[in-house]
Amino acid sequence: MKTKDYFKDFGKTVGILAVASVIAYFAKTIGDAMDPVVVMYIFAVMLISRFTNGYFWGILGSALGVILTNYMFTFPYLAINFSIEGYPLTFIIMLATAILTGALTSGYKQQKEEAEAIAKKLEASYEERLSFEKAAEQEKMRNNLLRAISHDLRTPLTGIKGAATILIENGSSMTSEDRKHTLNDIIQESDWLIRMVENLLTVTHISTDSMKVEKNEEIAEEIVASAVSHFNSLIPSGIEVRVPDELLLVPMDATLIEQVLINLLDNSLKHSGENPKITVELKADDNRALFSVEDNGVGISESEISYIFEYGKAQEESYRTDSARGFGIGLPTCKTLVEAHGGKIWANSKPTGGSIFSFYLPTKE
Ligand code: ADP
Repeated sequence: MKTKDYFKDFGKTVGILAVASVIAYFAKTIGDAMDPVVVMYIFAVMLISRFTNGYFWGILGSALGVILTNYMFTFPYLAINFSIEGYPLTFIIMLATAILTGALTSGYKQQKEEAEAIAKKLEASYEERLSFEKAAEQEKMRNNLLRAISHDLRTPLTGIKGAATILIENGSSMTSEDRKHTLNDIIQESDWLIRMVENLLTVTHISTDSMKVEKNEEIAEEIVASAVSHFNSLIPSGIEVRVPDELLLVPMDATLIEQVLINLLDNSLKHSGENPKITVELKADDNRALFSVEDNGVGISESEISYIFEYGKAQEESYRTDSARGFGIGLPTCKTLVEAHGGKIWANSKPTGGSIFSFYLPTKE
């Protein structure tokens, strides 16, 4: 124990005894009986044992208590007289009180310290686990994002190859207008590819401790329109687009969110049979922008909903055997991208048939 603590305990012992003596003095002047004096000192000894370290101060307190009783409160006053009847008994009771209280409090203190040490250990291991889980989760998200983007690099490449094949096979018989149109497709898809590669580079720079994407305020209607424009030529009846009256500004990485919408539209088209009827809706809701893609296709079951957003899960589950069976990368990609924006994505089946895929993005940082 430190010297400072010794002085503290000494001060407490003297202080408690002094206060006890004063109270005992007044008690004695009122009644002139011995009991309150002895009880007061026993109480003081208990307090000393409780508030000091170890047994020493309690035992010292009981010795001093006995001496003080003898010196101040028994005849002859202000003198020591060892021949008083019952004196050894008083001393033994005080001593026993000191030892018992000391033992109880030191046991209690030890238990408290042990409990505190265990609590600290538990807290440390909990924090360790939390940071481990966080790191694992970030690593998973990062990998998912990389896989997602790599997967979607394929789409424009297929478009470029298709357009180039048309040009090489039918180029000579095409009007110059058509040729220009096809070349423009190649340019557009290449632009998209360049953006994707830039995104890929950005993703590799995403810091490991925060899964962040580069966000800019974008007009959500424009992103929806741009995504829909990729499909209009594929759907004879066109895609119905519903947007709010007022422009909706949403912080996002436009390419990534367009990619989410394209994935959802692509799925709707794949699973909607002969006469696809697809509706894209954008709504403002408190601090969120709600996007949804609705179709009149085969719909989606509750059990499918539980796994289609997880990488690798779709292959594990027994897939329905329609021709649109795929690898199950699109939706997990969407989930990763939406969550990297602080949003959430989910799916519903319509009672009338078809499905609705929705996601929201926060409109405020
Ligand atoms: P992929 O299309 O490569 O299989 P996705 O992750 O995009 O991967 O989709 C996973 C599965 O979810 C699909 O195979 C399909 O069973 C189901 N699904 C997705 N979108 C729809 C939809 N609009 N209607 C019905 N089922 C869908």
